[in-house]
Amino acid sequence: MLTIATSKGRTLKHTLSLLAEAGIEPSEDLSKTRKLIVPSVCGNVNLVLIRATDVPTFVEYGAADIGITGKDTLAEHNSDNLYEPLDLNIGKCRLMTAIVTGRELPTGKLRVASKYVSLSEQYFAKKGQQVEVIKLYGSMELAPIVGLADCIVDLVDTGNTLKANGMEPLDLIMDISSRLVINKASMKMKHERIKGLIKQLKIAVDNRR
Ligand code: AMP
Repeated sequence: MLTIATSKGRTLKHTLSLLAEAGIEPSEDLSKTRKLIVPSVCGNVNLVLIRATDVPTFVEYGAADIGITGKDTLAEHNSDNLYEPLDLNIGKCRLMTAIVTGRELPTGKLRVASKYVSLSEQYFAKKGQQVEVIKLYGSMELAPIVGLADCIVDLVDTGNTLKANGMEPLDLIMDISSRLVINKASMKMKHERIKGLIKQLKIAVDNRR
């Protein structure tokens, strides 16, 4: 049995289509089910549905052999105990700083709102900019408007969410896409099976380029 952890986010459709090309199809509609573990039609894979931010933890501890989640989540989690063999080239977006349109960043210590506390701290430390990062779990765009922060660090795709809230993107921190991650022990114990799956997924990814 192979266990694959993923989440019900905006990339689920693309994830499922890649998995289908690798011969893995869930036995029920993942976007509708309330189940957290769904077996594949062939019966030798279990799909585990969890929050994107929990995927690295499940794979790191071996609760799942394989995980599919965004590079943002993986970089924030920052574990040495995961293999990351494949960029799935889906869920593409950018991790950026953003500010209220037309406003300039104040001098001195900045207040930054983000759910990416560690990535934000690293980014501003590299620039030699002192910051206080305020951890938020959502609706980041609100923070500068209500005076909670000077700027935000968040994912930007079309830029529409920022625009709708009177904000604009400032600097690119990193390009993001969904990645395949593998538990190190599983890679040894289930080597042939996992190697075959990586190969099939790579073909599916390359076919879409
Ligand atoms: P957009 O309005 O298209 O720029 O999308 C921005 C909003 O969608 C923000 O709330 C982001 O956190 C979220 N978002 C954008 N792209 C992704 C992605 N690939 N995965 C998860 N959330 C995303």
